[in-house]
Amino acid sequence: MKYAGLASASPALASSFGDWLGDPAKSIRAGEFQLLPLGSVQPKGWLRRQLEIQANGLSGHLDETWPDVGPKSGWLGGTGESWERGPYFLDGLIPLAYLLGDERLKAKAQRFVDWTLKSQTADGMFGPASNNDWWPRMVMLKALAQYQEATADPRVIPMMQRYFKYQLAALPNRPLTSWGRFRWQNFQYKEKMSSARLDQMEKMPGFKDIKLATHGVNNGQAIKTGAIWSRVSGADADRQAVLKMIAELDRYHGLPNGMFSCDEHLAGRSPSQGSELCTVVEYMFSLEQSLAVLGDVSLADRLEKLAFNALPGTMTDDMWAHQYDQQPNQVECSLHKEPWSTNGPESNLYGLEPHFGCCTANFSQGWPKFAANLFMTSAQGAVVAAAYSPCEAQLKLQGTNVHIAEETEYPFRGSIRMTVNPSKPVKFPFLLRVPGWAEGAEILVNGHKENAPKAGTFARVEREWKQGDVVTINFPMQPRVITGFNNSVSVERGPLVFSYSIGQDWLKLRDRGMTADWQVYPSSRWNYALAVDPAAQSQKIAVTEHPLGDRPFAAEGTPTQLQVKAKLLPSWMANEGTAGVVPESPVESAEKEGTISLIPYAAAKLRITSFPRLKESS
Ligand SMILES: [Zn+2]
Repeated sequence: MKYAGLASASPALASSFGDWLGDPAKSIRAGEFQLLPLGSVQPKGWLRRQLEIQANGLSGHLDETWPDVGPKSGWLGGTGESWERGPYFLDGLIPLAYLLGDERLKAKAQRFVDWTLKSQTADGMFGPASNNDWWPRMVMLKALAQYQEATADPRVIPMMQRYFKYQLAALPNRPLTSWGRFRWQNFQYKEKMSSARLDQMEKMPGFKDIKLATHGVNNGQAIKTGAIWSRVSGADADRQAVLKMIAELDRYHGLPNGMFSCDEHLAGRSPSQGSELCTVVEYMFSLEQSLAVLGDVSLADRLEKLAFNALPGTMTDDMWAHQYDQQPNQVECSLHKEPWSTNGPESNLYGLEPHFGCCTANFSQGWPKFAANLFMTSAQGAVVAAAYSPCEAQLKLQGTNVHIAEETEYPFRGSIRMTVNPSKPVKFPFLLRVPGWAEGAEILVNGHKENAPKAGTFARVEREWKQGDVVTINFPMQPRVITGFNNSVSVERGPLVFSYSIGQDWLKLRDRGMTADWQVYPSSRWNYALAVDPAAQSQKIAVTEHPLGDRPFAAEGTPTQLQVKAKLLPSWMANEGTAGVVPESPVESAEKEGTISLIPYAAAKLRITSFPRLKESS
C-alpha cells in the first residue's frame, strides 16, 4: 500500500521513494518498459477529437452540474462529498487538461490540487478531515502523480513523502479496510488464483468477504497488483499472476467486448450480462501499468480492445451521458430488474449517474491515460510503440531529442506511418508491437521491407535514425470470426469488435442539470443468426469503408461496415428488456437468408455482438 505512488512514470518520484525506503535490497526493480511522464505523448487526429468531445461533454463540465464534485466538495474544503468522487474526478481531469493544453480545465483541476496540498496537517495526513478513509487518498495520489509529471510542482513530492511516513506509522493501529484493503492489498489476489491453496485462502480475512472478492471493480483494479508488487518482490510468480488472473476471468466471465462481466459482481459468460464502466477504465489502467512491468504484447492487445470498444460503447457519442452497465447483447436500455447480479433497474440507462455515481466521477481517466501511454521506453533504451493511435511523441534518448509523428486512422484502418525526427542522428532500437491477431503484418523502413514480423511480439528495428526516416506498418484487416459462449460467434476486424446495430428510440426519462437520463427502446428486429464458418481460412464478409467523421465512434458516418449473411431466428426473444441467453449453436432457421450490416461495437448503442451460428446448409 505504501508503494501506491510507485506506478508513476516520474523518475523524480520513483527515485525519491527508493531513497525513502532506505534498504537497497528493497529498492524498486525496473520494469521491462518505462512509462513516459504525462505530456510526452500528444494526441492527434481522431484521438484528439475524441478528447475534445470529452472535454466539451460531461468530463469538462461535471463540477458545474453535479454537486458531488462541485464547489461544496470536501476536496475543496466544503462540507459536501468527502470520499472518492473528488479524487476520481481529478484522476481523469488532470490528464485530460494537460493533454489538450486546455487552460479552462487546468484551472478547474488546480483548485482541487491546491486545496489538497494545503490540507496536509503537521502529522502528514491530508484531505477532508471529516473522512479519514485511506482509500480516497490512494486515488488522490494517482491524480497528484500525474499533476507532478505535467508541472514539476515542487510541493508534490515532499507532501507525498510526509504522508507515506504518517501512513506507515498509522497503519498498524488503523489497517486498511473494505475498499482500500481490496484495492491495494496484493497477496490475497495472488493466492486467490492458486487453487492448491484453497484451505489457506479460506482463513484469509479478505476472502471471507465474498462480496468484495467477486466485486467487478475490485477485480479490475487487482489485475495490476502482481505486476506492481513484483517491482518490490522481484518474484516471477507475482509477474505471472497478472496473465493468470486475466485468463481465469476470461474463462469464467469473459465477454466478446474484451471485458469480464460484473453487474456488479462477477456474472458469468452470457453476453446478456453487463460490465460496469468503472471496471472498464480500471482494467485499462491495470493493463497500462502491467504492460510497463511485463512488456507482454497480449496486455496491449487487450488494452486496445477495451479502449476501442467497451469504453466508447458505454457512452453517448457526445460523452454527456454514460451507462453504469453495458451489455454485448444489449437490446433495450430501460428500467428493468433483469439480468443484473446485484445492480438496480437503472443500470443500463444512459445518463448522469445511472444506478450509482462512481462511474460518473471515475470514467474520465479512460481516454486520456490511453493516449498518454501509447509510447513507452524500454530499460535497454528502446522506443516502444505500445498501442496505436494518431499522436506525436517527444522523447529524450541518450541525450538526443527524438520526435515521432504517428499518422493513422487505426483502429479503423490497418496502415500506420511514423516519421522519426531526431535532433541529430542517433542509434536506438524501435520496438513495434505486432498484435496477436496480426498474422502477415508488414513493416517497412523508408520503403524497404523488414523481415516478416511475428504476430504477438514486438518487432525490433534497430538502426541509426535520421531526420525524416519513415516507418510504415501494414496490419492485415480481414474480418475474423470468434467463437464464444454457447458456441456463439462474434466478428472482429483488427482491434475492433463489430455488432449489429438495432434501430433505436431514445426516450428522455428526466433532465439532469446540463445533461439528461435516457431510456433506449428497440425499433427493429435483432434476433439474427449468422451464416459464417469460424474454421474458414478467409471469411465471406464484405468490408466497406467511409471517410472518418468528427465523431469516430458514432453510428452516423461510421468509417467501417461489414456485410454478413444472416437469417432471423424467431425463437430467440427478449425477456424483461434483456436478450435471452444466446442459444447454443449451431441453430436452424426456416427464415429467408439475407445480408445484415455490422458496425463497430461502440457505434451500436443497442446491439447484438454474440450471434447464434447457423447450421451449414448444403
Ligand atoms: Zn462505477
